[in-house]
Amino acid sequence: MTTYITTPIYYVNAQPHLGHAYTTIVADTYSRFKRLCGENVRFQTGTDEHGDKIVEAAEREDVPPEKYVDRISRMFRDTWPLLEIAPDNFIRTTDPDHIATVRDILQKVHDNGDIYFDEYTGLYCRGCERFLTDKELVEGNCPDHQVPPKEIAEQNYFFRMSNYQQQLIDHIRENPDFITPERYRNEVLSFLSEPLEDLCISRPKSRLKWGIELPFDDKFVTYVWFDALINYLTGLGYPEGQDYATFWPVAEHVVAKDILKPHAIYWPTMLMSMGVPLYKKLHVHGYWNVDDTKMSKSIGNVVRPGLLVEEYGLDTLRYFVLREMSFGLDSSFSSDAIVGRQNADLANDLGNLYSRTMAMVQKYRGGKIPAPADYEKQDEVFRQAVGLMIPVYREAMSDFRFHQALQAVWDLVGMANKFIVVSEPWTLAKDPTKEGRLDTVLYSLLECLRIVALVLQPVMPTAAGRMTAGLGLDKKSDVTRLLEPGANWGGLAPGSVLQPVESLFPRLEGRKKTKGRKGKVAGKVKKAKEVPESDEGLIPFDAFTKLDLRVAEIVAVKPVKKSEKLLALTVKVPEERTIVAGIAEYYQPAELIGRQVIVVANLKPAKLMGVTSQGMILVAREQVDGKERLVLSTVSDAVAAGSKIS
Ligand SMILES: [Zn+2]
Repeated sequence: MTTYITTPIYYVNAQPHLGHAYTTIVADTYSRFKRLCGENVRFQTGTDEHGDKIVEAAEREDVPPEKYVDRISRMFRDTWPLLEIAPDNFIRTTDPDHIATVRDILQKVHDNGDIYFDEYTGLYCRGCERFLTDKELVEGNCPDHQVPPKEIAEQNYFFRMSNYQQQLIDHIRENPDFITPERYRNEVLSFLSEPLEDLCISRPKSRLKWGIELPFDDKFVTYVWFDALINYLTGLGYPEGQDYATFWPVAEHVVAKDILKPHAIYWPTMLMSMGVPLYKKLHVHGYWNVDDTKMSKSIGNVVRPGLLVEEYGLDTLRYFVLREMSFGLDSSFSSDAIVGRQNADLANDLGNLYSRTMAMVQKYRGGKIPAPADYEKQDEVFRQAVGLMIPVYREAMSDFRFHQALQAVWDLVGMANKFIVVSEPWTLAKDPTKEGRLDTVLYSLLECLRIVALVLQPVMPTAAGRMTAGLGLDKKSDVTRLLEPGANWGGLAPGSVLQPVESLFPRLEGRKKTKGRKGKVAGKVKKAKEVPESDEGLIPFDAFTKLDLRVAEIVAVKPVKKSEKLLALTVKVPEERTIVAGIAEYYQPAELIGRQVIVVANLKPAKLMGVTSQGMILVAREQVDGKERLVLSTVSDAVAAGSKIS
């Protein structure tokens, strides 16, 4: 099986931004997914460098266009590695082989009689670089640029797009997957229900010199779309070469909806005229609305992909855009949304599952992967859930429903966290007759993590790589079998040793909240530790009775970002609440679950490192060789959570 996936080549009149990043992350993720499935994949991106907007931009910088396009194209090329995007080919429309291919194709289409010379008077939008029809105008303005187009008359070359209108309609009707999602297919069919006008494909050199000269008239350069779209063929060495033969029949293009028409109408009709088979699929996505005020203030900077990576982290950015956007629809990008996803999905759900499991295998099995014994019913149900996730994931990824693929993975992560709670490994560990069951539970959790790490490789290559490394796996060797049916359980060899890994996903703070963080926290932590005192150092009895001390049961534990000492504990008193405690140096999160502790339940809430603590857990402070050791308080026998202490 083979896959050829492309992004549009990006127009270098602007620097890379979030929209470019999204399209390219999608193409990269898809290419990695297809490789995971064992396919032969080619992934191409690049830059589109001709046209009058480029000349204008270069003039503004007072440099020749050649210099200007080199600089901006370099920016795109240098941005992709920051996002762990790894195209196989980066094409520029100023590359000599591209120029030669465009000229060959123009000559061919001209020889076919599909290009003619005519005088044209029309309404020209400089922003769109094309003539607009009356129908397209909104209150006299270009709908995309909100300016009135200029009426100009000039002689130009035209491509007989109208010759291929019916053929294109037939093709779209016969191939329901040709343009997806369906809404864009319908949009194109609706547009094609009106007579198609021919496409102006040239500019007189008197008006524009920065372009590819027409092979049949050196007083003209070609129109930017006839130049740009051909990149998809040039990159494969069209018309000769093995890559063209191998990859063109499976070509899939990813575009944003603003360039639907050129890709869904101009490009297929051009291919028809050339006698080249049409691409296989066009995947069309919506826009990101950056409506967060914090971001809008500095919109020019913050949506720069490199800065987004600095601010939120590479894995988080890739995960967020794929999880948040339903492919095809518009979506909102805000700092709160990305921080929310990071903390809830990555740090809490997946990060905790990973660290708890690794910690338990460390504690109960010395870091060695145990051999599973018999699978009890609970274990079998869990193992089946892991197996069921894979085809759901695979189908959704193949269909560009990335958010649903990730939803399926996270449903499994949630199930795994529940599996820990119900199988209670810490209880099994206390019972010598349950050794085998404990082995099975731990092995099942590790297998789940292995499979989650592998399916997350296309989305978060770095984090997934760290997960597999922690499991002691060579990530390459284990990938190819993954998606074969029935071959997805038992990849971990019992007896092999886990490798230490740092916290996978640190918690993020909203940016507002990070201000003055350090001083505040130090003060609050100290305050919380002090016992209230009267002048004499003694307190009256009614001062003591004001304390609401209760037995609480710890039900969940999360690390607190950028803090080595704090853990955020979810406790039942009996309702659930969060209490932040400075015990991370003394306890592993996994060994805290299920414990009963004594808490001050009526303490005023305090924010510690961005997490609101609703109470305080009582600990004993022991001095050992001048160092303090904290030990959790508890009751001598299990009691109902919420029982009062007096
Ligand atoms: Zn316009």
